[in-house]
Amino acid sequence: MVNHILLGFAVLAAWLLSLWVHPFGKCPHCRGRRIVMRGSKRRRRPVRCWLCKGIGRRQRPGSRTVHRTVRKIRRELARQRTARQHAISHSSEE
Ligand SMILES: [Zn+2]
Repeated sequence: MVNHILLGFAVLAAWLLSLWVHPFGKCPHCRGRRIVMRGSKRRRRPVRCWLCKGIGRRQRPGSRTVHRTVRKIRRELARQRTARQHAISHSSEE
């Protein structure tokens, strides 16, 4: 039971890490080919993918949130560090 929870956390962490390292993935609609076939079976023609607008890559859902969270944590850590340094310098002055 506990192992399952740990496994779940590990999978979640790996997924979040992959989102952070690779925020962009292949477009799921055109699979990175940038064009999709359109029209009836007899008259098919390639058109620019409407989902990625011909880029072939899509920002993965959640990647923005991950990056924002990482930024927030870093800012908070930096703030705490400066606050601690202020406290140290103030105490040494007295
Ligand atoms: Zn596409």
